[in-house]
Amino acid sequence: MLELQHVKKYYQVGDTLTKALDDVSIAFRPKEFVAILGPSGSGKTTMLNALGGLDRYDSGDMIVNGTSTKKFKETDWDAYRNNTVGFIFQSYNLIGHLSIIDNVEMGMTLSGVGKAERKQKAVAALERVGLGQHINKAINQLSGGQMQRVAIARAIVNDPDILLCDEPTGALDTVTSEQIMQLIQELSRERLVVMVTHNPELAHQYADRIVEFADGKIQQDSDPYQESATSSAFTLKRTKMTFATAIKLSFNNIRTKKGRTFLTAFASSIGIIGVAIVLSLSNGFQKQINDTQTETLSKFPITISQVTTDQSKAQSSMSDSDKTAKNRGYLVAAKDQSESAQHVNKINTKFLNYVKNIDPEYSNNIGYTRLTGMNLLRQVEGKVTAVKFSNSDGDTQSIQQSLSSSSGVGVSSFPEPLTAGKNNFLQSNYKLLKGAYPKTATDIVVVVDSKNHTNINALKNLGFDVKNGQKVDFSKIIGTTIKVASNDDYYQKLPSDNFIPNQNLTSAYNNSKHQLKIVGVIRAKKSTNMGLLAPGIAYSDKLVRQIIQDNKNSAIVQAQKQSNTNVLTGETLTAQTKSQLMATLGSSGIPYSILIYPNNFKDKDHVLTYLDKYNKGKDKADKIIYTDLAGTMTDLTGGLMDAITYVLVAFAGISLVTSMIMIGILTYTSVLERTKEIGVLKALGARKKDITRVFDAETGILGVGSGILGVVIAYLATFPINSLLYKLTDLSNVAQLNPVHALILIVLSTVLTIIGGHLPARMASKKDAAIALRSE
Ligand code: ADP
Repeated sequence: MLELQHVKKYYQVGDTLTKALDDVSIAFRPKEFVAILGPSGSGKTTMLNALGGLDRYDSGDMIVNGTSTKKFKETDWDAYRNNTVGFIFQSYNLIGHLSIIDNVEMGMTLSGVGKAERKQKAVAALERVGLGQHINKAINQLSGGQMQRVAIARAIVNDPDILLCDEPTGALDTVTSEQIMQLIQELSRERLVVMVTHNPELAHQYADRIVEFADGKIQQDSDPYQESATSSAFTLKRTKMTFATAIKLSFNNIRTKKGRTFLTAFASSIGIIGVAIVLSLSNGFQKQINDTQTETLSKFPITISQVTTDQSKAQSSMSDSDKTAKNRGYLVAAKDQSESAQHVNKINTKFLNYVKNIDPEYSNNIGYTRLTGMNLLRQVEGKVTAVKFSNSDGDTQSIQQSLSSSSGVGVSSFPEPLTAGKNNFLQSNYKLLKGAYPKTATDIVVVVDSKNHTNINALKNLGFDVKNGQKVDFSKIIGTTIKVASNDDYYQKLPSDNFIPNQNLTSAYNNSKHQLKIVGVIRAKKSTNMGLLAPGIAYSDKLVRQIIQDNKNSAIVQAQKQSNTNVLTGETLTAQTKSQLMATLGSSGIPYSILIYPNNFKDKDHVLTYLDKYNKGKDKADKIIYTDLAGTMTDLTGGLMDAITYVLVAFAGISLVTSMIMIGILTYTSVLERTKEIGVLKALGARKKDITRVFDAETGILGVGSGILGVVIAYLATFPINSLLYKLTDLSNVAQLNPVHALILIVLSTVLTIIGGHLPARMASKKDAAIALRSE
């Protein structure tokens, strides 16, 4: 059934050639107990290893059941060891971190036998070797004889055709040796047993046949056998370790070294902790920056005013330095810097349409400030009085002031449409405190700030007699009506060609086409970055355009067009003040300024690019210059934060790599430590891949462990870090670990440690089983 034909195995070490097997030919019967005797170094173990497929022969052939093994592939040998051969070693070679049952089951586990069958067979084998009582003990609680019995149970559990024993009693006392020999003898009734021994007495007492070895050659054979040429069917079942088995093996191994494993996991988690903390910090800082940016955007929209300052000019004249100036004997009359940098934006219909076409993706809120005044009349207790209600009183200084401070008089207009829906400016950005949102052009609202304050002037102008700090019930305000009189009804012409408001406004009140009604009180939503409306009164832009439509051709506008003095006061006007007065009177629909609210900082850049495009190829005078205060204020912050994060992550990343190398070293140590186990697994039929898998599983477990540990520690560290930062900077909750980052880091740690451990794992798999088993 098993035959060696002219088998040679030489070892070349340096200059010496050792002929461990020197042309050995021998055949074995299917059932017999063969003892191999011979001095040490004569090649006994080498032959046993060759018979068991643990070691390859150099030349010759080995015939198993009539099949030549010359063409055996690696996996065939693995399967051969698993299916056909059982090994018993002098030093038992049990896997210490597995239970007795698991040790016995290992061969079956490798060949994929089901759990129940494994257990039943293992118990049967243990009972057979007389260990039925001790099944639940740990390996290190057994005596030498008992350990050898476990090893025998492991060897026979698969009912192999061949049992190979390498000095099975070499480490046992005489009494125990006899017991073991009896057991082996009993087993040889059912199969071929080949036993290497030093002990001629035992050999002669128990074995059927004695083969004597010397110098790699058979010297004597007590009962030679001639193999008949018949070959029986010989199929091998492939072995394959499942991943679950690999994990179980690794877990058990790790469990026996808890302290070391924890330290390793902790050390290699330091990289993860570093990266996690850096990420959570930059996360938090980025959030702070974004909040600030949003706030800035809402306070400082892109502004285009009819009169503006050309920042580039203002700056260039400032930075001009003239070194020869102090040597001059004269002075130079020069325009004030701010005056020379003044630029008049020619806002016309074409530009207005251009602005209207800004992609709503980037900015869907554009506000207009118009100088248009309204002739408002209010009837209180039957008496009609004029109400002052305009964005300005026509004086340039106060116009600019009121614009930059978002209307000192507390009047602003909001963009359309008024219909409810996603695009409704008020409904999406303002909370209704009382009443209703405006539905028509004549519906107006009172805007309050976060403390429910509103502009006192706006209330006074509406005809409410209020003092600073006075509380006014919503109900007293909502429902108030005012009328807008046309210029022609409101002003009367004097014989001097000047105009004055009518003394009796009752008919103007009665003639009015527009009755305005305060329909609600609103407050900006917390989430909005569109703080377009100043506290006070707000009406729709549509109303303003209607008023302009009404007044554009009125007598006073016509008269003012002709005259260079103010038709109301008789003051002399400059070109600029005249055009502003005309605008106040309602002569044109061109807004005084345009406020563009981009959705965020990125979108702002798109809007600016779009605006810059308008100026392309235009004369200096025709260019439209915008003011982007938000940009000037926060240009620095964003990029800086990114740069810092990259640098810190890179540093922390280095410690990750260090951890990886460390895991590699530790796995290497573990491989060295577990050389015997590798040998045993191989003897039981584990493939190279399976061995790699065991160590990969171990590093995988370690990687997941250290990743989770790192993330948990980093998370816990955010609390003291945050309280420290709060004390130092007043910023709360800066460090925030993003769960997605945490997950990525755990995966990263696992992948890196597996990579780090894979090389030693591959080394382990390449270990020569025969050498591994010889090692101590
Ligand atoms: P025995 O089992 O009879 O004591 P071995 O089969 O172990 O003898 O060894 C036979 C010879 O082969 C010895 O001289 C031993 O030194 C040599 N040998 C065994 N394995 C190796 C090896 N891996 N490399 C070099 N020499 C080896």
